[in-house]
Amino acid sequence: MSQLIFGPVPSRRFGKSLGIDLSPEKKQCNFDCLYCELAAAKAIDTIHNPPAVNEVIEELESALQEHPDIDVITITANGEPTLYPFLDELVDRIEKIKNGYETLILTNASTIGDTKIQRTLAKLDTVKLSLDCVTEKCFKKLDRPTDNVKLSDIIEGIRQFRKNYKGKMILEILMVHSLNDTQEEIERFNKILPTLGADRIDIGTVDRPPAYPIEPLSYKELHKIAQQFDANLPIHIASRHRAKEACTRYSDEEILSTLAKRPLTKEDIETLFDKKTMERFNELLRQKKIDIKKRGEITFYGTAFSKQKKKNISPSPLTKETF
Ligand code: SF4
Repeated sequence: MSQLIFGPVPSRRFGKSLGIDLSPEKKQCNFDCLYCELAAAKAIDTIHNPPAVNEVIEELESALQEHPDIDVITITANGEPTLYPFLDELVDRIEKIKNGYETLILTNASTIGDTKIQRTLAKLDTVKLSLDCVTEKCFKKLDRPTDNVKLSDIIEGIRQFRKNYKGKMILEILMVHSLNDTQEEIERFNKILPTLGADRIDIGTVDRPPAYPIEPLSYKELHKIAQQFDANLPIHIASRHRAKEACTRYSDEEILSTLAKRPLTKEDIETLFDKKTMERFNELLRQKKIDIKKRGEITFYGTAFSKQKKKNISPSPLTKETF
């Protein structure tokens, strides 16, 4: 496999992905996030020495021949793929050869305020945008962007993009202790997120050694944070950080009230509930006090009493970091 194409990588929620790395030689990003799973590097606004479109397409075509059983072509980078200067041409060329495969981009959203970038991304089936912070103070501390990136442009850009984009728009919030899990940040998220129209909002935390010493949240803490978000938001806990010791005993009432607040996936349930609670859960399921809902490839469990209307939740993308 070439340096430009990697995978296929299987994902529980997204299927098999073939990745395109638009900065194969080194990290080139306009953020220098504290949690980055690549080495720390000074944030820059341009990708230097970008690969030629022809080269990417040739290697993609040969990888597709070798791995015809993939589900999705993922545009990513060791850094930020929307800094790639020929992105629009590349997306057009991928469209011509994709032959039924889904297309996805994983971006830090830094350039989404630019209408040209919006038009390019709108050609893709799924766009995953990071939005770790909604206050300037948190954004500068956690994502450490170059001076040219403004949080207000990102938020307004996402709003504009959503108005015209017909595909799946997924937001991702990576939670870091004492930075974006504060009351102030969550309250602000609850004001802004309902205006952005995401199809799904993934909340995760650091799963691999980060560039700087920071504290990830435990799975239980993530779950607690998820409950502080507006209940109408399509929040999904996306974390591989599912410690066994998180298992807790719940009464029948506690099971039902937990599921009434927010539907959970099977994996969430197996992480949270101990053996005895799982037996209770299965009995409640048998008694039809718990509903099963399928969203894309993910099964959610909620309660029959919950009147909350949820938006459609569709399968999650991979990030380069999760490969
Ligand atoms: S996590 Fe992503 S956006 Fe942040 S510095 Fe690393 S590559 Fe850039």
